[in-house]
Amino acid sequence: MSIFSVIGQDRALGRLQQALRSRRVPHGYIFHGQAGVGKELCASEFAKIILCENRRKRRRDGEDCFDCCDSCTSCRAIEADVHPDYHLVYREQIRELRPEQNDNGFGKSKAHRATALAIDVIREKLNKPAQLTSAYGRGKVFVVREIHLANVQAQNCLLKTLEEPPAGTVLILLADRLEGLLPTVLSRSQMVMFAPLGQKFLLKKLNESGCKQPQSGFWSRFADGSLGRALWLAEQDWYQAKVALVKRLARLTEQDAVELAELLMDSAKSYAAEARKQDPAVSDTVAKQRMYGFLLGVVSNFYRDVMLSGSGAAPAEWINSDQESAVKQASKSVSLLQASRAVALVGRAEYLISKNVNANLVFEDLFGDLAVTIRKTLVA
Ligand SMILES: [Zn+2]
Repeated sequence: MSIFSVIGQDRALGRLQQALRSRRVPHGYIFHGQAGVGKELCASEFAKIILCENRRKRRRDGEDCFDCCDSCTSCRAIEADVHPDYHLVYREQIRELRPEQNDNGFGKSKAHRATALAIDVIREKLNKPAQLTSAYGRGKVFVVREIHLANVQAQNCLLKTLEEPPAGTVLILLADRLEGLLPTVLSRSQMVMFAPLGQKFLLKKLNESGCKQPQSGFWSRFADGSLGRALWLAEQDWYQAKVALVKRLARLTEQDAVELAELLMDSAKSYAAEARKQDPAVSDTVAKQRMYGFLLGVVSNFYRDVMLSGSGAAPAEWINSDQESAVKQASKSVSLLQASRAVALVGRAEYLISKNVNANLVFEDLFGDLAVTIRKTLVA
């Protein structure tokens, strides 16, 4: 692999190349941007260049660029996941550090679920090895996944290394979002933003993965520029569920509210059961949240499409262009104002779900409110 196999992130690559050219690679980086846009791939390729024994220089777009050789001991060790100076730090490592907490006799413990990046992981997998001498003598690179899931204690612990990094140590923190990160962590790191990927690129990758139209087209539009999310969604086999939900939304009545809420609850329940069969470490709550998030995304995008259709945008610009007649049917009776209110209602539901409010109540309220909103404004 080469760092130039990271697609659609020219600006980010430009910043990294600039640091390599000036021979001033900072000790701390934050690669930020939504999940699934190539942050981790870029981090490991950048680490390969930093640690490579035979770094290569080549011209690209009129500028000197650096790449790894991809064949020295160091490059091969990173590819094989056995490099002693390349450390990947991630929340699930708590299970290996605290195996006694994996089963506390009362179901799955906190350590087993590993929903946050724990202080113990930072201490044992980052601060301690950071103090050791580099095995190959070319420095050390730590890549920390999901730093946005580290609590204040874990971030403070990380600051010990970030503030006084041993010579030749580079920390690359990967963040899906910057909220919740301490100002001290942010200020000591160089920010590199990763942009959402283009829809055409996602479509190409989905088709290559075996996903066919109309599914591939829909997921490429729905995934919000994240390749990881697009591939994951395609794998879930949720397309028929979205088609059915959009059809129901197109002719929503107040009587539907309870039934629709039940339908969504049932989908989440059966998905959670399936997800836990595949990975017992996934909690029921987390699995259900994923499905709720997806379903609310479908509802929200449907009303956005209704707005687009109402304001004259061509179906090619909609997310649900694969269900043109359903969107058009709704846009005949739903005004722009009603549709924008509907999007706001979904936003509220998403917030309540994220705060673990009873999903059944949230969905019943949502569909009831949606039906009322649509009808009321019509009469007014
Ligand atoms: Zn190399």
